[in-house]
Amino acid sequence: MSTTKTSKSTTAKNSGSKLKNSKSASSSKQHENGLASLNINKKQFKDAVVRHLHCSLGTDENKADNHAWWKATSAAIQEQVLERLRTTQKTHYLNDTRAVHYFSAEFLMGRLLSNNMHNFGLFETANAALQELGVELSDVLEEEPDMALGNGGLGRLAACFIDSLATMEYPAIGYGIHYEHGLFRQEIKNGAQIERPDSWRDYGNPWEICRPESIQEISLYGYVETKYGKNGQIQKEWHPGAIVKGVPWDIPVVGFGGKTVNVLRLWESQASGYFNWDVFNAGGYVDAQRENVEAETISKVLYPNDETEAGKELRLIQQYFFSACSLKDIIRRYKRAHGDNWSRFTDQVVIQLNDTHPAIAIPELMRILVDRAQLDWDTAWNICSNTFAYTNHTLLPEALEKWPVRMMEKILPRHIEIIYEINHRFMQEVEKKWPGDNAIKAKLSIIEESNEKMVRMGNLSVIGAFAVNGVAEIHSRLVKQDLFPEFDQLYPGKLTNVTNGITPRRWLKACNPLLSELISKKIGDDWPLELSKLDGLSEFADNKTFQNSFMRVKQKNKDALAKEIKALTGISVDTKAIFDIQIKRLHEYKRQHLNLLHILALYRRLLENPDYDMHPRVFIFGAKAAPGYALAKTIIYAINKVAEKINSDNRVNHKIKIVFLPNYRVSLAEKMIPAADVSQQISTAGKEASGTGNMKLALNGAVTIGTLDGANIEIAEEVGDDNIFIFGNTVEQVNELKAKGYKPYDYYYANKEIKAVLDWLDSDYFTPGQPGALSSLKQSMLDGGDPYLVLADFESYSQANIELDKAYKDKERWARMAILNTAKMGKFTSDRSIRDYVEKIWKLEKCQVNS
Ligand SMILES: *Cc1c(COP(=O)(O)O)cnc(C)c1O
Repeated sequence: MSTTKTSKSTTAKNSGSKLKNSKSASSSKQHENGLASLNINKKQFKDAVVRHLHCSLGTDENKADNHAWWKATSAAIQEQVLERLRTTQKTHYLNDTRAVHYFSAEFLMGRLLSNNMHNFGLFETANAALQELGVELSDVLEEEPDMALGNGGLGRLAACFIDSLATMEYPAIGYGIHYEHGLFRQEIKNGAQIERPDSWRDYGNPWEICRPESIQEISLYGYVETKYGKNGQIQKEWHPGAIVKGVPWDIPVVGFGGKTVNVLRLWESQASGYFNWDVFNAGGYVDAQRENVEAETISKVLYPNDETEAGKELRLIQQYFFSACSLKDIIRRYKRAHGDNWSRFTDQVVIQLNDTHPAIAIPELMRILVDRAQLDWDTAWNICSNTFAYTNHTLLPEALEKWPVRMMEKILPRHIEIIYEINHRFMQEVEKKWPGDNAIKAKLSIIEESNEKMVRMGNLSVIGAFAVNGVAEIHSRLVKQDLFPEFDQLYPGKLTNVTNGITPRRWLKACNPLLSELISKKIGDDWPLELSKLDGLSEFADNKTFQNSFMRVKQKNKDALAKEIKALTGISVDTKAIFDIQIKRLHEYKRQHLNLLHILALYRRLLENPDYDMHPRVFIFGAKAAPGYALAKTIIYAINKVAEKINSDNRVNHKIKIVFLPNYRVSLAEKMIPAADVSQQISTAGKEASGTGNMKLALNGAVTIGTLDGANIEIAEEVGDDNIFIFGNTVEQVNELKAKGYKPYDYYYANKEIKAVLDWLDSDYFTPGQPGALSSLKQSMLDGGDPYLVLADFESYSQANIELDKAYKDKERWARMAILNTAKMGKFTSDRSIRDYVEKIWKLEKCQVNS
């Protein structure tokens, strides 16, 4: 069965509606001024806000605080959103279009009000309306809590993708978990990270809509009964031990231009009325009640581990819970149009698995097709293996998901049987390809025959999906060469690349209004929809007047961030200094500690030679560490302790300042990125799958200092070697170093500066009265073997920083570099990523929604 042959009738209907809409899609002016169809002016918007203050919130203009104004403003926008949502859903229903279903355990949405206003072209209208009501829109926007239902890059990618899908008018739905608590709020106490619960819904969420009419029930635990059908065929029946209710909450996803509004459907778990009579009869009344309580804990909290696999039972249950609810939802919708005829299923449905977190959907669909719909195995497998596509996000072994067979037997007794059957048939394929080769069988098997048998979710995903993609060119190459080479031989063409992207609506238009305005004045205002147009700025890169305008915007953004830094930390920074920013989750492979070692080296140089020539620099960090990741927390502590020392050392603090901004999240990123001169992207080559922070910063005119890793390589190709500072060992050199036995002590003894700064960490210089508080850091880079080659890259990094400093001192050179970084980012719009997915994998048709 092929996914390429999208239904003819659908295609015909779509092209019909395309014709009808061809006029309304033309003018980009419409996006700036709002859609004609919305037709809401300042007066009407004011009235709507006031009406919501009165009728929804029960307050008035005199009593309302900013929070009430935020709610009323959001409600006024939501009126427009819901109108377009209805039209979109009706259009999709009537056209019965093929749609992509984006399964992701994480959606890191951030705030929605500002983006929804921009996407409807209502930002200026709302701003003016609130002004007349005596309210500052920027203050109102600050009231919105971030929707932080994700850890970092993977979750933010999902959010950018659903923005692009709606903007490009593709029928799409995001499926995820309605966590009661998103990623923890980070506080810094005496330099150390403290985790506090996130409570994004405590005072209500104006965007979400509960859909009790679409509640689903899913099963857990219990046992499997083997029965025989009329013709003597084996049939399996799962007798569950518990049933959990999934309540869907819909978040509207407004496309830029406000035409298509798709939904993000998030499942909340609730206890069902199901009472486990078996347990009750065995005298387990309390246990039976306990299961009801536990049902509600499934969607209680997001696991805060980025790039590590937790292996916890509740996490597997979360994964199954949202995958199974989503599949039922998809099948319910399919059956409404096609009844029990499964032959069109793969024409209508494609499911993208964002990492292996939802991979349990593969055996779940098999269960539905074989046990429920009573299809024979081959027919079912043909449908199933043409439905799923899988995105790999990492090569780090600790991030490759594996579940103990025993755990899966207990929670999902029927699924483990199905997985064994999938594996059994797959092993026969492997035997055909490599007769008698047991080593290959052991490697490719879904079941790892270790001491404790494990289910390898990556292998299951590659076998069960029709397409597998990495997220940047180098990463996809390594997926083929190192992670799944035999799969690549067995299924030629299945493994492919789709380089990540970011939405320029959030990450330039909305977050950096000054630069957006400057760009629009220079090259027109259609760049948010066609980011390659930014290349039109290139011809002004050497133009003095444009350089001045560009750098004046940067300076204003730096002034604004300096105020924010002062307000958040009390630290005063020199806004003429280089704003050097490293923002991302804290992980050894991302090497915040390489940045820190270099700062310590600069500090030493300045103490030894007060005339050491460097432009003043403010090193700004934002990073959360997983609560159980001790070394990551020590690195945060070290950054803060070094900051305390240096910031108060009058000998050097006119040259170096260090700022750690607590609680890094989407809304903080939006304030930091426009103000960055320098973007730190310094992961060990081969470890960062793509990165997307690198794209956001370059788009806003920051110059990257980075390794040849992830999308940095493609960024370097776009901006050219003169406009980026590349340093460090390449993937090949890293492999060579490791192969011949990497010895960090060699670097320690050979380089005085390395030795001095590492020894410094061992003293109590930065942690008075607590000697050894930072020793584990030094230890990891020496006796610990320095697994991420910090010391091997130190000298090259230090040299690149000297070049960078020299470039910054040449104002014209730097302005040119900054402009060209913005100009050359066209490739990294998530619209291009989505276009790649559509062409290579999803084979979707646009479905234009009438105004
Ligand atoms: C973009 C983004 C990330 C990903 O950053 P990387 O540097 O690519 O790891 C993480 N967190 C937030 C809040 C983001 O906006």
